[in-house]
Amino acid sequence: MPTYKGQSRRAFLQVLVGGAALGLASVSGFRVLAETSGGSSGGNSVDWAALSEQEWRRRLTDEEFKILRKAGTERAFSSPLNDETRKGTFICAGCALPLFSSETKFKSGTGWPSFYEPLPDAVETKLDFKLVIPRTEYHCRRCGGHQGHVFDDGPEPTGKRYCNNGLALDFVPDESA
Ligand SMILES: [Zn+2]
Repeated sequence: MPTYKGQSRRAFLQVLVGGAALGLASVSGFRVLAETSGGSSGGNSVDWAALSEQEWRRRLTDEEFKILRKAGTERAFSSPLNDETRKGTFICAGCALPLFSSETKFKSGTGWPSFYEPLPDAVETKLDFKLVIPRTEYHCRRCGGHQGHVFDDGPEPTGKRYCNNGLALDFVPDESA
């Protein structure tokens, strides 16, 4: 009888292990989904450059999509981030890459959140010929999401004004603040 019990027990365990393996598979599947849905992890596992337009539409609100993926511009004075004065970090609303420190934010009076300097290696620029006078567009280095335009009439120490769409950013306040 011990033999029978042993076999039965082993079979039972095999079912358990099999079930556990299935469970793990679905849990890790869920983890992958959770990681790719943006979030605060930074999403390093996502190949941001490879995301299709359809995938971006799923991840973003309509307004965010128009700005980040279609280089749109939000209405002036429409973003609550204009009045954000806490210490913290402004991150890309597309992929959560940190783009600006609150230390470099200044009151520009333009109606868009404005900064005199991005974080190191955070944005890339290109010339934009949408208006008669070419402007310098800048976008998130990681996901390519359009952020705004940079002008030469900013304050010291850089003299630059990064004029950013508030919808293209999320704000993460410092925990110690
Ligand atoms: Zn991004």
